[in-house]
Amino acid sequence: MPNCIFCKIVLREIPSLIVAETDQVLVFKDINPKASIHDLIIPKKHISDIQSLSKQDGALMGEIILMAQQLARELSGSQSFRLVSNNGPAVQLVSHLHFHFLAGKNLPDF
Ligand code: 5GP
Ligand code: ZN
Repeated sequence: MPNCIFCKIVLREIPSLIVAETDQVLVFKDINPKASIHDLIIPKKHISDIQSLSKQDGALMGEIILMAQQLARELSGSQSFRLVSNNGPAVQLVSHLHFHFLAGKNLPDF
């Protein structure tokens, strides 16, 4: 999707600190972390938000959740984490579906 920041990160047109990657999913560090660990889990293909998902995206969504599980497994110490997805113009700054993986110290309230 032209002019989508996260599509440009997938294409390496914008630099990011990549944490993990599969064929369909990319994980990179949030540029403005709200906790000591703050990663963004995204589908590589452009999907605007949860409302735009269809039945065919079920396996992709499963892969995203399993990626959160993998990130938690790799944490040292506590495996507690928060998975947050802001949806819609009132709360979502980037219109490419993403899940905030928040863990470690200074976890924000929600
Ligand atoms: P939301 O859309 O859920 O409100 O938040 C979008 C998130 O993307 C924010 O936490 C923001 O810091 C992050 N973000 C925005 N632009 C960039 C970028 O260019 N690189 C990275 N790594 N994160 C970004
Ligand atoms: Zn996009």
